[in-house]
Amino acid sequence: MIAAVSAAREGASVTVLEGGDRIGKKILVTGNGKCNFTNQYMNSSCFRSNTAADVSGYLAQFGVEDTLDFFASLQMLYKSKNGYYYPASEQASTVLDALRYEIEALGERILVLTDKKARALTYQQDGSVKVQCGTEHFVFDRVILACGSKASPKTGSDGSGYQLLRSLKCGCRIEEVVPALVQLRCKENYLKSVAGVRTEGSISLWIGGKEKAVEAGEIQLTDYGVSGIPVFQISRYASYGCLEGKMVQVRLDLMPHMDKAAFVEYMCGRKEKLADRTVEKFCAGLLNKKICLLFSKMAGLSQEQRIGSVADRQFSQFVNLFKEWCLTVDKPNGFDMAQVCAGGLSMTEIDEHFAMKKCPSVYVVGELLDVDGMCGGYNLQWAWTSGYIAGQHAACEGKSV
Ligand SMILES: Cc1cc2nc3c(=O)[nH]c(=O)nc-3n(C[C@H](O)[C@H](O)[C@H](O)COP(=O)(O)OP(=O)(O)OC[C@H]3O[C@@H](n4cnc5c(N)ncnc54)[C@H](O)[C@@H]3O)c2cc1C
Repeated sequence: MIAAVSAAREGASVTVLEGGDRIGKKILVTGNGKCNFTNQYMNSSCFRSNTAADVSGYLAQFGVEDTLDFFASLQMLYKSKNGYYYPASEQASTVLDALRYEIEALGERILVLTDKKARALTYQQDGSVKVQCGTEHFVFDRVILACGSKASPKTGSDGSGYQLLRSLKCGCRIEEVVPALVQLRCKENYLKSVAGVRTEGSISLWIGGKEKAVEAGEIQLTDYGVSGIPVFQISRYASYGCLEGKMVQVRLDLMPHMDKAAFVEYMCGRKEKLADRTVEKFCAGLLNKKICLLFSKMAGLSQEQRIGSVADRQFSQFVNLFKEWCLTVDKPNGFDMAQVCAGGLSMTEIDEHFAMKKCPSVYVVGELLDVDGMCGGYNLQWAWTSGYIAGQHAACEGKSV
């Protein structure tokens, strides 16, 4: 939608081919229905890719300020919550409406056709591109592929964008696509006993015995594994680790505000002071009851036993679990549960304006590319950045996009 607007503003005659019955459906589910559309804190490290070392060159062309100016030009009021930008209405539909109404306002310059699923592309000798939609076909001077990934296919992004890229038969490289910003399923079936617990903590991801990433925040325990923003942030690395058949583990520190030595000292002192209490009563006030119960069971303590009678080795096993609880990741949840995908068209295949080097009249933007942002408005920023730049450059006065 942003590519259509920017191309039309440059004078191109634009046709939007949308496979679903309406455009921009995914926007409605973003940010828990509030649409976190960008973030004040913006730099290259907020974006991950297998093939782009650095996306700052793209952000320099169209970054946060440009995004805010763009939405201001659509008369959309917005607000920042600690640097996370939302529409002032806190309704994702506001962002969609702002784009829809601008498309309408551009009048004949943008034609939106819904229920037009593109099935194949042909790069013609004169550089124009034929788009096959069922039995119909269209020919354009330039094509911008903004089909999204495979994440949340019910919103329309069913992975057909990768097929369209392959149909060009130009040998372009597509990096393995995996779910990202997604929950992780773990092998430990005792997790059922702590399902529903939310607790502050830090989580580190270990792949093949090496630490790959650390994040902190509210961790959610589910009956099958772990969820929450810190889990989402590390999930793309876990997905690749699982795909490669490596041992993938997460280590949770549920007492992040005390370092290990201080926590051990505190717990030993607590044990001395409360020596006559049962394990159950000793745990009161430490952390969520369900977690304390699980950890005490894992350390082989019974709830009725006096804490003072617990052997040192067993007590230290119990204490360690609060600082280093290790879970083995089985796999990430599937694409239907993922907010985005990692992988996609290799960034080595596109130029600084998102045109394909092998088929210069075809531009590729958004999640279809091998760039995935962290949680926090970065994926939409990538869609705005790539869409705006591609639209502007694809447009040539009088040409069709
Ligand atoms: C639950 C959820 C919450 C999210 N929250 C946030 C958030 O708060 N902030 C943030 O920055 N990001 C968020 N994201 C991610 C963000 O929505 C996406 O990264 C972004 O929408 C990608 O934009 P896109 O244009 O590349 O693809 P999409 O938004 O997926 O759009 C692709 C469009 O192409 C159409 N299409 C696909 N294939 C074809 C075809 N063959 N022919 C014709 N049309 C086709 C689809 O129907 C769809 O309309 C969230 C995602 C989800 C699922």
